[in-house]
Amino acid sequence: MRTVSHPAPSRTDMQRQSNECGEMLVNMNREDMKQQRQIVRQALECSGFPTDTPIPAECVTRYNNPLFGSRTRTPFQPGTQATTTIVENVTARKKIIAVHDANKLCKTAIYLRSTGENAISPGHQGHCSANLKPWDSIGNEELYGELPADQIADDEQPLVIGQLTTDGDSHAYRGFSKKHSEVVNLTPENLRDPRHLASTQLRSIDKADFSEFMFPGRTKADHEKIHRRFSLDLTNRCTVEYNFTFNEAAGELDRLVNRLSYVAD
Ligand SMILES: [Zn+2]
Repeated sequence: MRTVSHPAPSRTDMQRQSNECGEMLVNMNREDMKQQRQIVRQALECSGFPTDTPIPAECVTRYNNPLFGSRTRTPFQPGTQATTTIVENVTARKKIIAVHDANKLCKTAIYLRSTGENAISPGHQGHCSANLKPWDSIGNEELYGELPADQIADDEQPLVIGQLTTDGDSHAYRGFSKKHSEVVNLTPENLRDPRHLASTQLRSIDKADFSEFMFPGRTKADHEKIHRRFSLDLTNRCTVEYNFTFNEAAGELDRLVNRLSYVAD
């Protein structure tokens, strides 16, 4: 009924239904991504490249709660779910070729604990939706890099990833390249994306010590507010400059670096 956009009568019904078909959906998606990887191979072949040509890909992990923004508000790690996706950069559609989902949430364990049982996810009685223990680090991106690499390695003729673009502060590349190089005998190159460059820049300006007369305001809170605004403004200006230069240089790295050297003037 859901496939013809018939609304679910209740949340319980939705939950029951997803319990029934959850595993099937996971398997279907795994199978689909396997086909997508074959399509990438075909795209390479159609463009006249051998199918084992190293391809560029991108990888990022996203959390249900921001790890940085919320760390002062809770003594625990704020995130409970993390999704890692690897995207190919061969076709214009940027297909997802591998996914890993880490989850600490488990209703069954909460229920069992309320009845006095010492239930720890995963590994208790009944269905467990968590695949991380409560005390495991949710930000273990090295592991999240390894597991999608295993999915790619499962193919008969696995795709060869030549360059992996990740964020600058993540260990996903380390995990991915370790596993991937075992299978295809090639260590992928690690590239960094400008989106995270901007957030790293923002954090460094936030942390930088300025003289007390730098920002106007009567109280410390006033100073901090203006400081924050200054960091955001400077980062946005740099991002705009970078984007313009990037488009103008049209992929020529030497020209990009040359143009950027004039930005400060
Ligand atoms: Zn559980």
